[in-house]
Formats: sequence, structure tokens, C-alpha cells
Amino acid sequence: MHLPASLLDRTGWRRALRPNGDLEIPADAAPISDHDVAGLRERRAFTERPPLGARLPVSYRLAPGWARAMAASAIGRWNRHRADRWAAFPGWPIDLSTDVLDDLRDATVSPQPPSGRAPVVLTHDIDSPEGLKNLVARFLPLEEAVGARSTSYIVPCAWPLDHSLIAELMARGHEVGVHGYDHGNLTPFAADRDRRRRLDAARPFTERYGVTGYRAPSLLRTRPLLRDLGARYLYDSSIPTAGGLFPVPNNGCATARPFFVEQIAELPLTLPRDGSLRFLGHSPGEIARMWIECADLVALARGVVVLLTHCERRFSGRAEMLDAYRRLLEHLSAGTNRFTFSRPAAVIDAVRERELLRASDATRATAS
Ligand SMILES: [Zn+2]
Repeated sequence: MHLPASLLDRTGWRRALRPNGDLEIPADAAPISDHDVAGLRERRAFTERPPLGARLPVSYRLAPGWARAMAASAIGRWNRHRADRWAAFPGWPIDLSTDVLDDLRDATVSPQPPSGRAPVVLTHDIDSPEGLKNLVARFLPLEEAVGARSTSYIVPCAWPLDHSLIAELMARGHEVGVHGYDHGNLTPFAADRDRRRRLDAARPFTERYGVTGYRAPSLLRTRPLLRDLGARYLYDSSIPTAGGLFPVPNNGCATARPFFVEQIAELPLTLPRDGSLRFLGHSPGEIARMWIECADLVALARGVVVLLTHCERRFSGRAEMLDAYRRLLEHLSAGTNRFTFSRPAAVIDAVRERELLRASDATRATAS
């Protein structure tokens, strides 16, 4: 796990750190506060500077998808063995430092959440008509075979939507969310008025399909964006636990537990995502193994398993990657005492209830 130097100094933990990295917390250590936990969680949670693609004067989407995938793949392979630079914090492919710190808070105000089965939330980002077609034809049957339902975040204002396909997936018990505006990667960095105009353009879509959640294109997210989302959605799901190299090096919240930030509930993306893994050159077999190991770790940490896959052929919409996805689904459905398939809104409602309980416990502890 990774902790800020300032925290090690203030708590007195630094003195107790052994040469091999073991830490036995001294009896006279200063307590860990909510502020410490939120500070670590938010340390690298936002992408305040646009990456190159969002700064170009022309939309990066003008480059064909395969060219963008090839460029990202070259960057990924080049960097695969330099993880100490692009994943110094949070570590790749998963880093639960925030959760460790959360569990080390003063016990009177941090009751352990009920141990039980880890909720699993399956999500897709739908960037193109091809993605939507593949979703319905190839992904939904795999999910339905294990009794799961997924949430697909669809770009609302970039291409003509096939509403009959969306109606079909809804009728089969799956749901949809909003994936930005036109996937131009500009919304998070736009001036206030322009950002809100772009967000409001999704309203006909959200009303038609009862949308409750948002996923930012390329996972580019800023505090002003989240503040605006709070007025429009029940939750956001744009912050990875460990973002790795994309969209910017060293990004993520280092927690597998949903949290509140800028007045909105955040459902972190806890498993490494398909695009990053492919770009780093991992085989579908390796990807399945990494997903399974990370899901097991998230369950141990009492987090939520949240997976993002893209349905286009160049991501997960091809036979070998669909097979990796199927292997993960079978692992999750076989571990019925450890995992349970859920949905974003159900997970967020449970977290809200727990937070309310915690707040009333804290008040009682202060009063007594
Ligand atoms: Zn996307």
C-alpha cells in the first residue's frame, strides 16, 4: 500500500516502519481521521489537466478508431515495464491503500460494514453503433446465462441511436446510463455554461430511459464536472480505483468502496479495464486471470466489483476477449457465497444507508 509521507510523520507511524516494510502501529499513534481517508482517496482522483487528445484544435475522433488504438497500443507496450513511473500511485493493476487506511480509523466511528457477499456491477461503455449491436448480440447472452444484468453507458449526442436495440436490452432487464455528450473529451474542461449545456443535451435520453448514472468519456473528470453531475444524476462512475497509464499516468482513488465527493455518490471502477490491458499487450488469458484475482481481492476488502468493458471488436467484442469475459462471469457466479450480481443504484442506496447510520453513530459517540 502507499501512504503520504506527511501522514506517516503526523501519526508517528514512520518510527514504527521496519526495514522490510512491515508496520506495527504504535500504541501512542495519532488517530486517522475521515479527512486523512478522503485526502488519500482524492489525491489522484481527478484529471485536472486535459490529456493531449482533448487539447488538440480538431476532435481526436477524426482519427479512425484503429489508428487511435494503434497509437495507444504503441504507448502501452513501450510503457508496460515502467509501471513504477505511471503507476507510482495508485499502483497497477489495483491499489486499495485508501481502504486499508479507512479500516485503521478510530474504531468508534468506523464500524465495519456488514461482511457478506461483494456486489458485482457489470458495465459497458457504448461509443459506437457497432458497440451497441455487439452488446445486444454477444455480451447480454453471456450475462443472462449466469443470471446477471449489466449497465451500458451510451454516448447520447454523437451518432444516430438505434432505439429498438436500447428498448430490447431494457426489456431484457438491463439498463443504460449516459456516456458524456459526443465523446469529444471537452465537457470536463469546458467553461461552466458550455459544460452545463453539454450535460443538459442528454436530458431527452435520460428521461426516456430513466437514467440515474453517468460515466465520463475516457474517464476524464474534474471537480466542476462532478459538481454539475450531482444536480443531474444519482451517481457517477468515472473514477478508477487504479487508472494506470490512461487517461493520464498515476490516476485513481485507491479504493474499491463507493464514496461521496462533490455532493455526488461515486461508484469507482475497481477492476482494470479492457482497453488499458489490451494496450499494455496482455493476452485475453492473462486478462481473465487478472480480472479474477482483482475481483477476489475486492471481495476480501469489502468493496464492489465494478468492471468496464467496451463492446467494439477492437476492445472486447471479439471471440477471445468474450471468452475472457465469460471466464470471469463464471468465476463470479460460482462463488455465490462471495459475490452477488447487483446494479449501481442498489449499491449506492446501500452505501447511503450505511453512511447515515455511521453519521448517527458518530453523533451519539460525541454526545456520550
Ligand atoms: Zn467511451
